[in-house]
Amino acid sequence: MTPPISRQWIVAERPTGRALRDEDFRLQTTPVGRPRAGQVLIQTLYLSFDPAQKSWMENVAGYRAPTQVGDIMPGSGAGRVVLSENPDLAVGDLVAGPLGWSEHAILGASDLTRIPDGVSIPAALSVLGTTGKTAFLGLTHVGKPRAGDTLVISGAAGATGSVVGQIGKITGCRVIGIAGGPEKCAWLTDELGFDAAIDYKAEKVRSRLRELCPGGIDVFWDNVGGDILNDALARLAVGARVVICGGISRYNFDARDPSQMPPGPRNYFNVVFTGATIQGFLMNHFEADYPIAEARLLAWVRSGAIRFKEDVLTGFENAPRALMRLFEGGNFGKQLLKVGED
Ligand code: NAP
Repeated sequence: MTPPISRQWIVAERPTGRALRDEDFRLQTTPVGRPRAGQVLIQTLYLSFDPAQKSWMENVAGYRAPTQVGDIMPGSGAGRVVLSENPDLAVGDLVAGPLGWSEHAILGASDLTRIPDGVSIPAALSVLGTTGKTAFLGLTHVGKPRAGDTLVISGAAGATGSVVGQIGKITGCRVIGIAGGPEKCAWLTDELGFDAAIDYKAEKVRSRLRELCPGGIDVFWDNVGGDILNDALARLAVGARVVICGGISRYNFDARDPSQMPPGPRNYFNVVFTGATIQGFLMNHFEADYPIAEARLLAWVRSGAIRFKEDVLTGFENAPRALMRLFEGGNFGKQLLKVGED
């Protein structure tokens, strides 16, 4: 086949110390190259969005290769193999991996995961992909929940938080979610079986946690940081585990400028009285357990024990908007972008 022409979103400016804006991205059109031996050419069908992509543009995420202005915007997605120079992947195979914001990508097989038969692309990019694995591995390795524990989650109606809460329910925890707005809170309690939800935009988180967690919080899963983390630290139970998964409330500040960053949590000293631990993690710290996570998540999704919601925008031109929605609470479920027909 003749290699196609492809559109790509390029990093045009670094959004350091501020919210994302349209000028941070530039659309370009380039002819697609040919895969070399061992590589495949992929037509992108879906892109997947994570708040950390903003940090990648700023080069403040030390765990990955630097992003330069002028690079294709990094990101993960899924697509169909349309040219193969690798015997392990055939034309027509569906794969997921770091495609970047490009309508076509050329990658080696070791960068790609084949999407199993019977698994939809949205599921493969969310509950059965990075999102679900982050939830499972962070909760089991760091949160270590036990039946009867009170588990509180910030960013609870988001892609990661909603899976954490459901795994908590399966474990036998009492689960309380903190989310923005009545619709998201009602989804947590009425559809996902959370025991309670706090609308942080309309309610006082600290006093609601006092009412809802009379025995304290055994596991606090934090996706947000800032005031919500501070309020949770004030209510820790003895031996509590605080899991730092993300801190989206700080992602618009310049992490390298101490004068810009909000102060640390005032209530941190409560860890002394409770013997609590505060531990951060990255999903890939637990890479050895990916097969366990994938098998458990697939079984739970197939049995209906875990439900997930995706929020799908359409059209390659909307990639910047899809990322911005995460920071506005505009997404309700895993933010995806449908780029081509699956
Ligand atoms: P998500 O939760 O689906 O979307 C982000 C949500 O954050 C929004 O929907 C919004 O929900 C909330 N939010 C945005 N700005 C906020 C603010 N200033 N204060 C409070 N809430 C705010 O995204 P996700 O992909 O599942 O990621 C969740 C967190 O996990 C992120 O912090 C991400 O960086 C982190 N993460 C960590 C790892 C790891 O390995 N440690 C891996 C993946 C993701 P509301 O409408 O409820 O405000």
